[in-house]
Amino acid sequence: MSDGSSERSESEESVDEYSFTCPACSQEISVNSEMKTAILANGCPVCTESVDTGCFDT
Ligand SMILES: [Zn+2]
Repeated sequence: MSDGSSERSESEESVDEYSFTCPACSQEISVNSEMKTAILANGCPVCTESVDTGCFDT
């Protein structure tokens, strides 16, 4: 029995992806965690309406 000899490379770090739906303009965008942070800070990239975390769905 051989065990411990299988090195399995984990597939890339999990890429956080969220679905953002703007409550103001109804634009739906797929974003990663970086963009999510940016949108929370700067508002909707389409209409610039400020949004909160509730607008993101994982
Ligand atoms: Zn918008």
